[in-house]
Amino acid sequence: MHRSEITIDLGAVRRNARRLLEVLDGAALWAVVKADGYGHGAIDVAGAVLGEGASCLCVATVTEGLELRAEFAGVRILVMGPSAGREITLAREADLELAVWEPPAPEGVRVHLKLDTGMGRWGLSELPELTNEVVGLMTHLATADSDPGFARTQVERFEEATRGHSHRVRHAANSAAALRVPESRLDAARCGIALYGLSPFGGDPSEDGLEPALRWESRLAQVKRLRVGESAGYGRRFVADEDTWLGVVPVGYADGFRRDMTGTDVVVEGTHCSVVGTVSMDAIAVRLDRQLPTDTPVTLIGDGVLAEDHARVAETINYEIVSRIESGPSRARRTVLDA
Ligand SMILES: *Cc1c(COP(=O)(O)O)cnc(C)c1O
Repeated sequence: MHRSEITIDLGAVRRNARRLLEVLDGAALWAVVKADGYGHGAIDVAGAVLGEGASCLCVATVTEGLELRAEFAGVRILVMGPSAGREITLAREADLELAVWEPPAPEGVRVHLKLDTGMGRWGLSELPELTNEVVGLMTHLATADSDPGFARTQVERFEEATRGHSHRVRHAANSAAALRVPESRLDAARCGIALYGLSPFGGDPSEDGLEPALRWESRLAQVKRLRVGESAGYGRRFVADEDTWLGVVPVGYADGFRRDMTGTDVVVEGTHCSVVGTVSMDAIAVRLDRQLPTDTPVTLIGDGVLAEDHARVAETINYEIVSRIESGPSRARRTVLDA
């Protein structure tokens, strides 16, 4: 039996894609679907956004690119992470495009040269002699979500370094930049998080016209009464300060409900309830305001609880919360809605 369920609303993904296309104002929308579409299902999401007019799929690895190629013939696919050796042969055979930053560029495969304009990780510091295989020039912005001023400086450096190459597609923006740094949009924007209806700024996605596409639900597997002074969970981190109804939900850190999410809220019967005590591998406890029957639904993400809320409690980012939800036979069942 499945212990939880994630539901992906492709209608929301489509609306987010339309919203981004509107914001991009003529620049192309390239959909970033690495890490299985940030945990949403890369193939389903790719199908939906291509239908709305996204013109390239971006992934981190050649393996991810090959999985998409098997489903989408003729669609532009860009591998943004490093690739080497046999991966390059596979990429060539499958007509994947590769981001590269170390000369010599591989032969017989279309490449996008990556310039480091301030991210301080992968990238060339200046443009070498370009071959015909170089179809694109790219850079990655370090601070589009937090410091648009520095992002603008990076875009200026990029434009300076790539001047005279307007016949090659130039791309720099991620979701945050696409939404807040108009100069960064150039020919195409590589958008991930916003497509899923999550805020690149860690706030409320609706402020940017985005709609979360993922719901995560489970149920109360057991409801019990704790007397004053009784505790729940490993290490007795929660001790009842009064008689308390406690619900046990069969989801824990092995499902992707992180151990540092103690104190976050979930929704039970329309009421926000706190997760109390230590998150175990397979269970959490929630403090209820009254006795409820077992099997009462519990919303872990949705109904007003945002991935961003959990991220704040866990001191991480929404990207990490959603991409680490485990689906599979004994974890979350995945359902896709397409309305
Ligand atoms: C993941 C990634 C993106 C997408 O970033 P979002 O913030 O999810 O929009 C864009 N470009 C590169 C190089 C990436 O690795």
